Amino acid sequence: MKPSKIEWTETTWNPSTGCTKISTGCANCYAETMSRRLKAMGMEKYRNGFNLTCHYSDLELPYSWKKPRMIFVNSMSDLFHEEMPFDFIKAVFNVMNNCPHHTFQILTKRADILERYYTLLNWTTNIWMGVTVENSHVTYRIDSLRKVPAFIKFLSIEPMISAIPEMNLFDIDWIIVGGESGPKSRPIKEEWVIDIKNQCQENQIPFFFKQWGGKNKKASGKLLQGKKYCQMPNLLQVDSLSF
Ligand code: SF4
Repeated sequence: MKPSKIEWTETTWNPSTGCTKISTGCANCYAETMSRRLKAMGMEKYRNGFNLTCHYSDLELPYSWKKPRMIFVNSMSDLFHEEMPFDFIKAVFNVMNNCPHHTFQILTKRADILERYYTLLNWTTNIWMGVTVENSHVTYRIDSLRKVPAFIKFLSIEPMISAIPEMNLFDIDWIIVGGESGPKSRPIKEEWVIDIKNQCQENQIPFFFKQWGGKNKKASGKLLQGKKYCQMPNLLQVDSLSF
């Protein structure tokens, strides 16, 4: 198992792959580019490219990982995609429920489907649920998330493509912010990020600033006003607690 390059997790588990674009944040989807590349390289798992595909044979993978891991579920898909069979979502939850030694992080843009199904799922405390909020037009996703009885409820503000002032952050446990990277990346403004950091501070929410992004994300780095912000919920790992 390879460690993930995603800064806020340890490894990824993709029981499904593929997706379809549903909002502005999807314009330069990394998973789409990567899926097409892996298909071109002849990887069997990606034979369907970016079309939604359930991989029943990968369902049991977390059982084979004996050491506790922070696992991002479906970095290459969306578990709450409208074409995802509900039985498959239940099967994924069943594995998570049976692996209390791991922590699972799920992220979706389909907050409406999450809202439709959440009462039918078993939210053991090792499951963290997040929604992507890339701009101020999709803050309604936070209201859907708030209803879910997940142990940790988080927001991924990535790629951040507008200011998102005055969010209702009641019952939100963690916020990740990041700029878009790659050749077509849309710009992020420092004042937008500082505003989110301040909203986190006012609401006592851990704040994780992942990156500025841009054409050369390594060069632009992840310092905000000269500081790294890698706060995690539950004080599991805190790089800087003082805002
Ligand atoms: S929801 Fe996520 S995986 Fe699906 S197209 Fe949008 S960015 Fe890509």
